[in-house]
Amino acid sequence: MTKKLLITIDGPAGAGKTTVSRELADRLGYRYIDTGALYRGVALAAQSRKTDPQNDAELEQLCSELKLDFIRNDMGLRLLSNGADISDLIRTPEITMLASAVSARPVVRHYLLELQRKLGEEKAAVFEGRDMGTVVFPDADIKFFLNASTRERAERRFNELKTNSSQTLDEVQRDIQQRDKNDSTRAVAPLKPAGDAIVIDSTDLTVSQVVERMLSHIE
Ligand code: C5P
Repeated sequence: MTKKLLITIDGPAGAGKTTVSRELADRLGYRYIDTGALYRGVALAAQSRKTDPQNDAELEQLCSELKLDFIRNDMGLRLLSNGADISDLIRTPEITMLASAVSARPVVRHYLLELQRKLGEEKAAVFEGRDMGTVVFPDADIKFFLNASTRERAERRFNELKTNSSQTLDEVQRDIQQRDKNDSTRAVAPLKPAGDAIVIDSTDLTVSQVVERMLSHIE
């Protein structure tokens, strides 16, 4: 493929966005950008500075002093926060729920909007998130919205977390439902498919089947 495309993949937690986005980016020789990690980075900073996630002035101050950057090294895609590699610290259940809370605050979304658009300037990238096709890149070349049943998403997340977490399957499902609710009912940039998104339900599909389906749309 000679033309450099900007591809977006939105959808709820556990729909398979991360695995699919990574594989799709690999197949196309594109960069993969996990925008959820950026919200998690803000949440981690808020936690370590004891910032009140409901206080916009405090959040604005926090964001103005925060420099988030992606790098790629032999461990894969890593997130740096003011120079420190925080990739492994942002995957706890607490940070997951705090990321969902701070992501509802307009000051945080505004701060990350600029950063994400900058990362997209060169195109040839797959952006994964919640509002990639609706808000951040309304002119993206191809938009996908990946979904799956709630139970299937909870099971996938549970299997992913198993070794690092003591949460039961029901607890994982409850967190996912709470996040779905937060993400789709917030006033700014709620989770929803863009009008021109291709919607794929991955409940009964393997990762390769989803990727093949996407590649055939792209071609
Ligand atoms: O994708 P991930 O589960 O890592 O995202 C963490 C949280 O960040 C989500 O629950 C959502 O609230 C928020 N998020 C968002 N917009 C994005 C990506 C993530 O609001 N583009």
